[in-house]
Amino acid sequence: MKLETDIRKIEEMTRANDKEDRQYRSLLEASDLTSEEIDTIVQKHYEEVSAQIECRECGNCCKVFCPPLTSGDIDRLALLKKMPREDLIRKYLAVCRNGEEHSIKFSPCPFLAGNECSVYPERPEACRSYPGLERPGFVSRIGYLFSNCSVCPLIYHVYERVKREIRDREGIKSTH
Ligand code: SF4
Ligand code: SF4
Repeated sequence: MKLETDIRKIEEMTRANDKEDRQYRSLLEASDLTSEEIDTIVQKHYEEVSAQIECRECGNCCKVFCPPLTSGDIDRLALLKKMPREDLIRKYLAVCRNGEEHSIKFSPCPFLAGNECSVYPERPEACRSYPGLERPGFVSRIGYLFSNCSVCPLIYHVYERVKREIRDREGIKSTH
């Protein structure tokens, strides 16, 4: 069956699952499974889900987040856009905190064209690493991932699958 990727429906399903998701978030954090064992379960589901969801047809994270940029990101983007670094900063970036940190100034991101990134080969590190489900430490980042379920179909479906598998393994009844 095709995975749901319509972001309005994902938001609705996240809201509907909120109580159960909070309960399972606590159970995951208190699970007898080691962090490595949970990461192995996450990896399996991430591989299955990411094979079925095409980020280029979604682009929702680019519509709602203003990712931070490293100095190297700014240099690479300025080169790609054939603009002086200072012009790129003025046109597209907000300056944060001590005046040395930058993030994209607008959402949706001004580099989004349709649902695709127009600067994809030189996109910022933060964009490359989102949603980060392939990285170890799922449980230690669960609060962040949980809060992103309504934004990202990949996170939503992986979270739901991991939740079901842990529930089945530990013999916990669904609250639904
Ligand atoms: S730079 Fe590209 S990947 Fe990053 S938020 Fe903008 S459109 Fe999305
Ligand atoms: S990372 Fe998530 S929100 Fe971003 S484009 Fe891919 S599926 Fe959509």
